[in-house]
Formats: sequence, C-alpha cells, structure tokens
Amino acid sequence: MKLTFPHMGNVYIAAKAFFEELGQEVIPPPRNSKKTLEIGTKYAQETICLPLKIMIGNFVESIERGADTILLTGSCGPCRFGYYSVLENNILKDMGYRVRFIVLDPIGEGVDKLKKNVYQLFNAQNIKDVLEAAKIGWQLIKKADYITDLSNRKRAYAINSYEVDLIMDNYFKEVEKTFGAKEMMELMDSTIDKLNRVKIKQNFSPIRIGLIGEIYTVIEPFVNLELERKLGHMGVLVEKSLTPTIWVEHHVKAFPFGSKLERLKHELAKPYLKTAVGGHGLETVGSAIYYAQKGFDGAIQLLPLNCMPEIVAKSILPNVSKDYSFPIMTLIIDEMTGEAGYMTRIEAFMDLIKRKRRTVANG
Ligand code: SF4
Repeated sequence: MKLTFPHMGNVYIAAKAFFEELGQEVIPPPRNSKKTLEIGTKYAQETICLPLKIMIGNFVESIERGADTILLTGSCGPCRFGYYSVLENNILKDMGYRVRFIVLDPIGEGVDKLKKNVYQLFNAQNIKDVLEAAKIGWQLIKKADYITDLSNRKRAYAINSYEVDLIMDNYFKEVEKTFGAKEMMELMDSTIDKLNRVKIKQNFSPIRIGLIGEIYTVIEPFVNLELERKLGHMGVLVEKSLTPTIWVEHHVKAFPFGSKLERLKHELAKPYLKTAVGGHGLETVGSAIYYAQKGFDGAIQLLPLNCMPEIVAKSILPNVSKDYSFPIMTLIIDEMTGEAGYMTRIEAFMDLIKRKRRTVANG
C-alpha cells in the first residue's frame, strides 16, 4: 500500500511522520500549487466546491509519484463533503486511474468498517496498538499546529516579519527530508527554537482578527492566498477558529459529546441559528460571536464559492456584526480569485478597523 491523502495546511506534516512511524509507505502530495489547482479545475465539475478541485489535483500529483491508496475522512452532514470520496473516485476512474479509497467515516456510519480501516492503517492488532499509535499522531498534530500559531503570533510582532517566512519555508523544505516521528519532532523543536529567537517589537498592540469559515479554506494557505502571512506582514495577529487540533479534539477526543470550545460556539450561535447546516456553518456564526466577546477587532469569513453552509452563515453574519458592533468581512474564494482585488479588500477592512479603534480611543 502506497498511501496518500489530501494536502490541507500542516496536516501532511503530522500525517507523513505518523504513518511512516507505523511502517506505512507514504507518498504525501506535493504542496498545493497552480498546477494542482489547474488539474482539479480541468477535471472536476465547474460548480463543485474549491476544496474538491484541489484534492483532485493532489491525488493526481500523488498517483503520478506512485501512490495507489487514498485516505480521506468521511462525513454524514448535509453538505457535499459526504460525497467527496464517491465523486473523486469517479473522476479519477474517468481519467484512467485505478486507486483504492480508504474512507474514515464517522462512527455513526458503522463501527465495523471504521474499525477495519483504522486497524489496517495503524498496522494494529488490537485496541491497545491503536491507542498507542493515536498518542503519537496526537502529539504530532498538536505540535504542527503550535508551530503554525506561533509563526502567526511572531509575524505580527516581529521587527522583521519576513524572517518568520524564511524560518517557515525552511521548515517546510526540511519536512520532506525527515523520516518518522522522532526526526519530525526534532525538526519541529528546532523550528520552535528559531521562531522564539525572532526579535519582536515592544509595547505593540496588534489588531486581532479571527479567521472563520469553511475548514479547508481556513487551514490551507494556498487556497486562502496566504491570508495569515498577508495579515501578519501588516502587523495583524491572526487566530484561526478551526485547526486540525480543534477538529480532532471535537470529533475524536471528546466524542460523542464534542469539545468544550465547540459546544460553547454552538451555544453562542443559538440565538441566530439553531441547527447544524453542514460543514462548519454553525461554528462560523458561533466563532464570530466568540471573537467579538473575546475583544478581537474583527473577523474574516472565508467562503469557497458555492459552499452551502458558509452561504447560510454569511446571511446571518451581518446581524451578528450589528448586534455586537463587530466588523466582519467575507472573502469569497474560487479558482478565479485575483490577488490584487483580494489584497485591496483586506487593506480596506484593516483601514476600517483602525478608524474604529481611533474613534473608540478618542471617546
Ligand atoms: S463545507 Fe462547503 S466547501 Fe466544504 S464540502 Fe461542504 S459545501 Fe463544499
């Protein structure tokens, strides 16, 4: 089995080390690029959501490197994600590729199939092996997310924010040369060390922005046109409402009740939206209120074109913004999104927030 998976932010870093540690042959997809998007755009349906197009590109690039098995999480929610594996399999078949899909569906879709897939992936004989392996995976995911978050914090405060980019780019290059969990942890520790040595501005109070919206678009920098970097270079501190750590905490670690943080967001959203609308639409509404209550300066919603849950959330966010006097901007993203127009909207939003800050400061 030569295993690959979608490229989604830093997930590949943890996944590569984790599966290598378990003795699987891993062929991670190359980092997302224009070529990845072009492949997906060419072969996926025009109106399907952007993450699926990118994933098709990922899979083709990995298959061409030798991958024969694709790992994907499943979903039973009322959005298109539940159909991804079926659609993707059909698209790849039409293109002449024959690969195996391993889909980790939610427990509600059948325990036996999930158990069989997990045992095979984890090279496990029993539940003890699964739990041991899961511990390693959890440490890797948490550390990969910690580095992403640390880099965002450092970029906002750094005297030279481009120094952070250099450290991160070097980290991504080195990831490809590592093998297994031990080497990856060492690389991660040395990256944390380098980030902590970046010189920062004193007595600086950055604008604080919460990134909310569709999970893939929030997590994957290529898809959101490196929004975290762009904001960081403007001296803006970014916090993401969704990360792999938050996802695992909610859907796996705290199963079946869900994590405290996500349950809080559901409660906060209730006056505006009482039920799940698929994807993270409900969480987007709750996260906007969460950041307003935490004293953030504003929130940016990322919406891949045609994403149904985020369209629902978008229709509610103006009410949240008004009720909490909290600036919220929606960025709609697809393969046609142009960098210049995108940047203009971000700069205009930051100007608006600065003006609001000044108005508040002047009483
Ligand atoms: S959340 Fe939105 S973008 Fe993601 S699969 Fe569902 S509809 Fe598509």
